[in-house]
Amino acid sequence: MKDSRVEVVKGDITKQKVDAIVNAANTSLLGGGGVDGAIHRAGGKAILAECIKIRDRQGGCKTGEAVITTGGNLPARYVIHTVGPVWSSVNADKAATLLANAYLNSLKLAAKNGVRTIAFPNISTGIYHFPKQEAAAIAIETVADFLSTDTTISKVLFVCFDDDNYDLYQQRLGNS
Ligand code: ADP
Repeated sequence: MKDSRVEVVKGDITKQKVDAIVNAANTSLLGGGGVDGAIHRAGGKAILAECIKIRDRQGGCKTGEAVITTGGNLPARYVIHTVGPVWSSVNADKAATLLANAYLNSLKLAAKNGVRTIAFPNISTGIYHFPKQEAAAIAIETVADFLSTDTTISKVLFVCFDDDNYDLYQQRLGNS
């Protein structure tokens, strides 16, 4: 099933010209490695300043939830910070639910803020070790479910940084 609102691209999420990019953050909201580090480096100090305010107000961000900040110096107006689960074989079912929640809560927060175009990285598939194939299936299904009733969002980009993820998303969503 192909939805023309959904696209796969290969590259760096910090370069995407969309209303909002999603960050695979951690619960502290204070930055980290991987895509989180790249977003804070490219977006500048304004993003971290807002993350610190949110942390002071509500104690960070729980796994599966999402918060929104400025995009700072990025082309994107907003960064939506969500926290994916750390995967392990003993909590695989729970991790799957939490990963779906991370995508869904990011989309809900985007729609609430008038975001029309949004870019996702492959949440949890780096340092958090979520198996890439299953993560792709969850991401694509969660986005499709959301879009089936949403009238706000006009474009969802899956921005794949590594070849494995790009191939997986192309197989499922190939831009033809
Ligand atoms: P997590 O802790 O959620 O696993 P990571 O940042 O380690 O987060 O990895 C999530 C995904 O982000 C990985 O698939 C990784 O290849 C990808 N990634 C890393 N840097 C970037 C970037 N600049 N743009 C888009 N994706 C990126």
